[in-house]
Amino acid sequence: MNINFTYLPGDGIGPEIGEAALKVLNAVATKFDHTLEIEEHHLGGIAIDVKGTPLPAETLASAQKTEAILLGAVGGPKWDHLEGVDRPELGGLLPLRKTLQLYANVRPAKPQSSLIEASPIKAAYLEDVDFVIMRELTGGIYFGDKGRDENGAYDECRYSEAEVERIAIRAFEMARTRKNKVTSVDKSNVLETSRLWREVVIRVHQDYQDVELEHTLVDAMAMHMLSRGKDFDVILTENMFGDILTDEAAMLCGSMGVIPSASLGNGRLGNGRLGMYEPIHGSAPDIAGQGKANPIAMILSATWMLRTSFGLEAEAIAMETAVTAALDARQTTADIGGTLSTLEVGEWVAAHIT
Ligand code: NAD
Repeated sequence: MNINFTYLPGDGIGPEIGEAALKVLNAVATKFDHTLEIEEHHLGGIAIDVKGTPLPAETLASAQKTEAILLGAVGGPKWDHLEGVDRPELGGLLPLRKTLQLYANVRPAKPQSSLIEASPIKAAYLEDVDFVIMRELTGGIYFGDKGRDENGAYDECRYSEAEVERIAIRAFEMARTRKNKVTSVDKSNVLETSRLWREVVIRVHQDYQDVELEHTLVDAMAMHMLSRGKDFDVILTENMFGDILTDEAAMLCGSMGVIPSASLGNGRLGNGRLGMYEPIHGSAPDIAGQGKANPIAMILSATWMLRTSFGLEAEAIAMETAVTAALDARQTTADIGGTLSTLEVGEWVAAHIT
């Protein structure tokens, strides 16, 4: 088949980890007799430099006609002096997610056995940890009215019932394919948006009585995730809480450099296959251009793309198997104990696609 996707390498280490992931995708395409059709465009800082805007019209047009986007990362100190929507994330990534209605961000936390010692958490707390965080991505405080007045600054947080309902449905659906449990995280003892969140989640749960539902306050969740991570399956939460909890969850897995994510919407065709796939880390300007970036998160993001947007299960399994082999054999970058460069990891994984 033709695997047609929009590729947005972005800034910093984005192009390096992207090159490594494309090596692996090419090996998969050869092995399984597919054709890759890649539309590469600028997003973020590089787009500001080349096109004068963080989200150029041709980037948006390409993203709007595809069912899959593979993204590196955007941002960096070069563009830190810019304000508001002139910035790579506020003017590039966030409007792209919003325009495509990629409202569900999914990030797994399942420590690989070969990386247990790379985690700062004691091994006993990592055993049997296997959960996903389902974060609402296009509403809440990041998208609310913000500004300054004579007294200070403000950021407005709003959620509509429809926004909560669609992400809750997605969480319950996902739980049914996993361990049948949803933990909804809010701050309903203080925030009105959280009270609405809880009400809607309880209502949606009426249609999913076979799935266990529990509610936890976000401050307690920050603790439970580390002390009893194995008790969770699908953790459902709003935008900002999810942003914070997902980075905490990354530490259970040893390194930011190994965790992929998918941002999902209902899609152009309404088949739920539209997705933007990206590592959870940023553009890592401190190591950019040095071949030190771990490409595993980007490779696993590409794996997720094949599985979810294209339904290519065998191909996805072949990639995951090769990644696990690389981790087990320490054929990795230095952040997780190896000696290879970014591209060498990509080449090793590509050579082990069987
Ligand atoms: P970061 O995730 O880029 O880096 C944090 C630390 O993790 C750094 O020490 C970095 O070297 C390391 N790291 C990150 N990815 C790695 C990898 N693949 N391999 C090895 N080490 C890795 O976060 P930051 O430093 O806070 O942000 C840098 C820039 O990235 C900022 O401009 C920020 O706005 C942007 N950012 C972009 C995204 C995105 O595009 N989705 C997400 C987060 C941050």
